[in-house]
Amino acid sequence: MAGDWFERALGVIPGGVNSPVRAFGSVGGQPFFTTRAEGAHLYDTNGNRYLDYVQSWGAVILGHAHPAVVEAIAQAATRGTSYGTPTTAEVELAEAIRERMPALEKIRLVSSGTEAAMTAVRLARGATGRAKIVKLAGCYHGHLDALLVAAGSGVATLGLPGSAGVTAGTVADTIVCPYNDLDAVDAAFAEHGDDIAALLVEPVAANMGLVAPLPGYLQGLAERCRRHGALFVVDEVITGFRVARGGAQALYDLRPDLTIFGKVAGGGLPLAGLGGRADVMDHLAPLGPVYQAGTLSGNPLATAAGLATLSVLDDAAYGRITQSARRLAEGLSVALETSGVVATVTQVATLVGVFFGPAVHDYESAKTADHERYARFFHGLLERGVYFAPSGYETLFCGLAHDDTTIDETVAAAFAVAATL
Ligand SMILES: *Cc1c(COP(=O)(O)O)cnc(C)c1O
Repeated sequence: MAGDWFERALGVIPGGVNSPVRAFGSVGGQPFFTTRAEGAHLYDTNGNRYLDYVQSWGAVILGHAHPAVVEAIAQAATRGTSYGTPTTAEVELAEAIRERMPALEKIRLVSSGTEAAMTAVRLARGATGRAKIVKLAGCYHGHLDALLVAAGSGVATLGLPGSAGVTAGTVADTIVCPYNDLDAVDAAFAEHGDDIAALLVEPVAANMGLVAPLPGYLQGLAERCRRHGALFVVDEVITGFRVARGGAQALYDLRPDLTIFGKVAGGGLPLAGLGGRADVMDHLAPLGPVYQAGTLSGNPLATAAGLATLSVLDDAAYGRITQSARRLAEGLSVALETSGVVATVTQVATLVGVFFGPAVHDYESAKTADHERYARFFHGLLERGVYFAPSGYETLFCGLAHDDTTIDETVAAAFAVAATL
């Protein structure tokens, strides 16, 4: 029984989980324990089957246990799991990424998005000789100290730590501005312009629910960075190879100085990376003075899974997934509206979000959504075999394994649950 496993887990793992949001803290109840997954479905220790819209938090896009990915990993494993020398697959994956995102002139692979963001911050500081970083409230870039800053800080105020164990000193150089607000960024640059090394942005904010950038916002950020000599760093850990073949930078016609990627790029294995202008990337060791390293960086199983995943994802695949996401968003919208529930369903390409409240454009408005109602919605769906993200601050992921039948099943379940909200 899942309950028994959760009891055992609580005895040996803090909170029973190896990443906090898995614990169902914001929706209540106990997490199920997955034993296997296939296509759009997860199976738990009690033999239940769930239609999965979490997809390993966006790391899986072809569907679970896709034959091409399984085969690539199995083949790679027979040749050894890690060498600590260069491999041809690292070059092939870097080239495959650059072909999709030409702004990534050079690329370094690491093992997690956190590591990639940490490296990007150090590299930006090392390359510019400046200290400060602008981050946008509600955007998540992994759990590195410098970016774990309390959200919602005012315009250009210096951040307060958003986690115990993060010293005020570590975030003293982090400036937090609200998302979708260019005036706030102007104020930050007016005050600290000569000392800002980089601005980091999620091009489509997907860690405060799903919030789209307002028209011109991303271009406006890029322009301000250029004007003040700061690096424009786009965090595509979610959007990369997810919202379009070339990521959000293709969708919004951006050319970032640096890009962080992860999740889809590793095909469900631990792989992430950063890439960008060659003159900036060449500041990394061994060419330059900015140190960065990793025992398992560019791991052969992860690069095999990443290459296999990318090779399946042509423009037609993104078209199909976007179509599924649209069908889901429209269906959820109608279901909630029909029941008289005030809700906003957002959709950007293959991503979908649900807010129980009026339209959201930044973290402050995301916080005003009714997250208790989201929790009831979540549990109602779960009882009907549909697994949405266990927090109203997360995003729903469609993939190639979600078809019209699974979407329609989901919408039918949403109709049933909406009537009880
Ligand atoms: C998940 C995520 C990260 C962190 O990646 P990890 O592999 O979990 O460390 C960074 N940025 C964004 C936008 C993410 O969604």
